[in-house]
Amino acid sequence: MEAMGWGRYPKTTAELIQPADSQALQKFIASQKKSASCIGRGSGRSYGDSALAEQLVSSRFLDNFLELDQQQNVLRCGAGVKLGDILKICIPRGLFLPVLPGTKAVSVGGAIAADVHGKNHHLDGSFCSHVKSISLVLASGELVTCSEQENPELFRATCSGMGLTGIIIEATLSLDSIPSSSINQRSLIANNLAECFEHIEDNADSKYSVAWLDCLATNKNLGRSVLYLGEHAASKNRKTDTLYRERSGLGIPFSAPSFLLNKTTMSAFNASYFGAQKRKKSSTTLRCDNYFFPLDSISNWNRLYGSKGFLQYQFVIPSEGALEGITSVLEKISEKGKGSFLTVLKKFGEANENLLSFPQSGYTLTLDFKNEPALFPLLEELDRIVLAHDGRLYLAKDARMSMEVFKASYPNWERFMSIKNKVDPDNLFASLQSNRLGLTQ
Ligand SMILES: Cc1cc2nc3c(=O)[nH]c(=O)nc-3n(C[C@H](O)[C@H](O)[C@H](O)COP(=O)(O)OP(=O)(O)OC[C@H]3O[C@@H](n4cnc5c(N)ncnc54)[C@H](O)[C@@H]3O)c2cc1C
Repeated sequence: MEAMGWGRYPKTTAELIQPADSQALQKFIASQKKSASCIGRGSGRSYGDSALAEQLVSSRFLDNFLELDQQQNVLRCGAGVKLGDILKICIPRGLFLPVLPGTKAVSVGGAIAADVHGKNHHLDGSFCSHVKSISLVLASGELVTCSEQENPELFRATCSGMGLTGIIIEATLSLDSIPSSSINQRSLIANNLAECFEHIEDNADSKYSVAWLDCLATNKNLGRSVLYLGEHAASKNRKTDTLYRERSGLGIPFSAPSFLLNKTTMSAFNASYFGAQKRKKSSTTLRCDNYFFPLDSISNWNRLYGSKGFLQYQFVIPSEGALEGITSVLEKISEKGKGSFLTVLKKFGEANENLLSFPQSGYTLTLDFKNEPALFPLLEELDRIVLAHDGRLYLAKDARMSMEVFKASYPNWERFMSIKNKVDPDNLFASLQSNRLGLTQ
């Protein structure tokens, strides 16, 4: 079958293995020859090539709920369960996932493998900070449990390890209590990037915080933005306030012609969005889905970028150099006549101990670019700016970073390799990304 990530670039041919349960999975893994290679595949919401290989081991059937302890706020479930399915079960019980990425289609296994972050990293850390333990099938076919207490090295390599230590089949997660399923949102307008940083810092105790940036604004307007702050709304009526109303989305049935996305259309969109947000009420109460997953309301929105797909570029820069570094990135994009429809800025808190985890204390910017030949040299220039400011790129979004850039910016990659070599000496678990980054092959 043709396989690709959410960005629809790159594309490859792969065999999809769909084990019905953990025994079938162990049998499949144990039967693999030394020269074989495969990688775990969740919902395919990573953008680039981290979940691409000749054989994709799907977690689709590992989608069972095993235990929900409402006294301890702990859930045990299969790695193929989607975050949205957890919300469906948990919200009516007043429980919530402590960390949510921008789509609820992500699987538990994918969230652990990329150690995903949400709009509250500055307060609550990333997904794996709330994972109590994991069951993992190793390259030998053996099933092991790992946690902070049991096999802690393997735990830290698997949480953020992009599937390279084995196939996660099950996880035990801590949950938060919430008063209601709604979010009180406050929005603040910033007329430039420095003002946006100020708003974020002044509101650093706000539970959720994310800014949308007009990436095409230049000069004194560079970085003009809208900061969205969110808090769980108090409950007026516990029974009705914890109802979970899912939002069903419109679909994009086919790939849009890519010429529709050019600097003029993007500039018009960014300017009119900024203008509309300025006129809107600055406080409102939103349903959970509308606040956390606005993009899920258009299913297959990735087709809007045309058949060649798009690349998402997400980097983090430590706080000291973040304003300068992000300004340079925005100026470079504008100088090259490129633009991004969706540009998002978030503040990160402290890094955790997971070996390939992306977040570190600082600011992260996310940009989407249509795939075209002129993009690749620009991204290399952006890499140089990011590295010069001690930053790094997010593996879950990456489709083209060089081995040199990766190794210079992920200081624990050698520690990761020593654990990988112990549990998978023949590199059974390898992706197009891990081969490109020099982690396998
Ligand atoms: C609209 C959108 C918004 C997003 N917003 C955010 C965000 O706010 N924050 C954020 O951090 N990320 C975000 N992401 C990225 C996404 O959260 C990550 O890429 C996540 O890893 C995708 O999970 P998945 O289940 O789709 O996994 P896949 O894309 O299928 O795989 C991703 C990685 O996980 C590994 N993997 C998957 N399942 C297993 C398993 N069972 N065992 C071992 N390894 C496994 C794969 O090998 C691969 O390396 C967003 C993505 C989209 C499309």
